[in-house]
Amino acid sequence: MIPNSLQTFLKQFGESQQKALFLTGAGISAESGIPTFRGSEGYWTIGSKNYTPMEIATNYMFRQFPEKVWRWALHYFNNARHAQPNPGHQALATLEKRLGSQRFTLVTQNVDGLHLLAGNTPPNTYCIHGTLSHVRCDDCGEVHPFPQDLGYYTKNDIMPDEEWDKLACPECSELMRPHVLFFDEYYNEAYYKYESALEAAFHTDLLVVVGTTGATNLPLLIFETVLKAGKPIIAINLDNSTFTQTIDIYQQGWVLKGKSGEILPTLATFF
Ligand SMILES: [Zn+2]
Repeated sequence: MIPNSLQTFLKQFGESQQKALFLTGAGISAESGIPTFRGSEGYWTIGSKNYTPMEIATNYMFRQFPEKVWRWALHYFNNARHAQPNPGHQALATLEKRLGSQRFTLVTQNVDGLHLLAGNTPPNTYCIHGTLSHVRCDDCGEVHPFPQDLGYYTKNDIMPDEEWDKLACPECSELMRPHVLFFDEYYNEAYYKYESALEAAFHTDLLVVVGTTGATNLPLLIFETVLKAGKPIIAINLDNSTFTQTIDIYQQGWVLKGKSGEILPTLATFF
């Protein structure tokens, strides 16, 4: 499963003091049963109109229909609340312990919190699209933990007023929002570690891309930064993607096709 040339490289890498950057996307969490936004689960109906996640998970929609956007988010969150880390997540937690905080950085597009649940630490885990574990107030900017006593709601449930009160900002009592990057918003450092993630890309000696296809802006920028620096890239994915094709064309790394829950634990043994 792991080519000899990669085994040799990883052994040398493990014995060096070089830094590794891991970039993960929906593919790693799909193996824990979390549906991707691009699947049919993400679609939503308001009135007679069908919305895609790209249309509903927006700041524009939240300002117009905050409660409807919340119901969409809670429906999605219900799937994530039951999910458990899989062997791919666990392998990344093992690698953070083995390499240490100076040599390990994890950048994730996933908002499900499974990396932290598996044992990766917040200082080394940049959630560039935010996290469902927190909510925030757009009025005063405060970030708060997601109210754990909020019930489970699906799209057809009516949410009582006392439940909505749990989503009110304790500082200014405005309705808070999911602490995630909406599709019509841009990254920043304060909420999404934008600069820290790019900084990590500039300084890394190895990039490992897991279960992501290069469809969004910052992951693509990270990939291009490492590519231009001439550093090796390992891509783990079920299918071909912009990332796997680029590695093949430039011959600058390795493409490993298959489930990250099977490949990452094996890969980790060579570091
Ligand atoms: Zn507030």
